[in-house]
Amino acid sequence: MSLTSSTISRRRILRGAVVLGAGAIAGPALFASAAQAYNWGGTLQQGSTGGAVTELQIRVAGWAADSGNKAHVRVSIDGDFGPGTAAAVRRFQAAYGLSADAVAGPNTQAKLNALENSDGSTAHFNWSEFYDQVAHNFASGKVSESSAKENCRRTMYKLEALRKKLGDRAITVNSGFRSIAHNSQIGGASDSMHLYGHAADLDVPGVANSTVYRTAQTCGFSGLETYNTDHQHVDARADMGRDWWWQDGGI
Ligand code: ZN
Repeated sequence: MSLTSSTISRRRILRGAVVLGAGAIAGPALFASAAQAYNWGGTLQQGSTGGAVTELQIRVAGWAADSGNKAHVRVSIDGDFGPGTAAAVRRFQAAYGLSADAVAGPNTQAKLNALENSDGSTAHFNWSEFYDQVAHNFASGKVSESSAKENCRRTMYKLEALRKKLGDRAITVNSGFRSIAHNSQIGGASDSMHLYGHAADLDVPGVANSTVYRTAQTCGFSGLETYNTDHQHVDARADMGRDWWWQDGGI
């Protein structure tokens, strides 16, 4: 967590670390594809650093907090396995029936890999759900296409946590990434987090929006707003260096 890394961190030699880039985007995947076997390069624990830690942080970022009452609770995606990352790993492990020791060894890594589809999306979300609804891709926003896709990937993992915490209730993403043109057309805010791939508008059938909202507060989302009964906006504005904003002021 700390940016002042004066300690000599245990460096991990990453063998064939996978970087998910702007590979070809497959068509809508109606069914979850096979799990991806990410090469974690060994056990990760407090003090570990590097690209695998970054990937771990992305995957456990939705387990940032136990409650929404603490200020500014999110996992820093900085490749430095500190106390905040450890706490998130512990919550992830407890939720998935693993030994909650904050050490990401083979069992935890296997569970994390089971959440990742072979195309880099997550078990319960598809790239197509996050596409701009007009152009059906991640282009022409306020960041590059590959950055927008990566930001959507990070949102997916937070939504996996939200889904799990809500009792494995299905979450529909009504709007993910938007191009500048489409966002303008529908009257979106001029600097909407949707333009960066950092936002999603959700419908969780059968779950009260207030419950979705409260639960989302524990999933590392730094922007939250409820528009109507089936439209909960979540975003990661703090990842852009912006101030947190929760509609209910509960930060
Ligand atoms: Zn929105």
